[in-house]
Amino acid sequence: MASEQYFKGKKVVIVTKHGKEMVIGPALEEFFGMEYIVSENIDTDLLGTFTGEVERVLSPVEAARQKCILALEEYDVDFAIGSEGSFGPHPTLYFLPADEEFIVLMNRKKDFEIAVKMASLQTNYASYDMDSESTLNSFLEQVKFPSHGLHVKGPKDYLAKGIRSQNRLNQALQEAVDQFGTYTIETDMRAMNNPTRMSVIQELTGKLVEKMKSCCPSCQRPGFSPSDVIRGLVCSCCSLPTKSVKSVIYSCEGCHYTTCIDFPESKTTEDPMFCDFCNP
Ligand SMILES: [Zn+2]
Ligand SMILES: [Zn+2]
Repeated sequence: MASEQYFKGKKVVIVTKHGKEMVIGPALEEFFGMEYIVSENIDTDLLGTFTGEVERVLSPVEAARQKCILALEEYDVDFAIGSEGSFGPHPTLYFLPADEEFIVLMNRKKDFEIAVKMASLQTNYASYDMDSESTLNSFLEQVKFPSHGLHVKGPKDYLAKGIRSQNRLNQALQEAVDQFGTYTIETDMRAMNNPTRMSVIQELTGKLVEKMKSCCPSCQRPGFSPSDVIRGLVCSCCSLPTKSVKSVIYSCEGCHYTTCIDFPESKTTEDPMFCDFCNP
């Protein structure tokens, strides 16, 4: 397997302050025999925090890339892994909260990179105001407290972060009420305090491994993956083109070899249910 030459025995630094190496590291060890270390010197909070002390100006994938670049300056390793998550409405299912995760693997020379992303509806991302209509207990259950952490906020600043016990939560809420007469609770989205997010990162690591294993048939460079799609799979009833995918285009970022795979899901026609003509 060509990806072995690329990765076997190579050293990789995983940039994280939030324990993400626990799910990323073992996969790289197991599938590629890579040796991993965790960055301890890089303050990833400088690139932006979820709690807004530092606003993230870079896009998530750029932030992940920047973490790799900083780590490669600091550590004598072959590869770096940076990752970033972002929370908010799902990119296509707008009204549902989603966790969008990005992982970037970059080589020492910075001329090779594999990036993967994924949007998951598996998230406890939510907040609660003192005057919310639902009860505090139902919110706590919904966000899986105390297995998942919480932050407590006054009108402006955070009073306590990463709360994982009922006692600490009660104290923080009391403090907020005493000081400001109100409070807001937010879910802690840092991976070490959020097992749901950690499992999404683990799933995305699986995608990263698959992409690292997939090599260009022409130059053997790993990371050979779909770069574009052609839509227009025809309707099985009226034979008009639909918006469904007909072909997937794979291309190599190294040698620019390109290939087109027709009917990627072994489906040569589309169900009339998805046809704008049969089912407008
Ligand atoms: Zn190639
Ligand atoms: Zn049709």
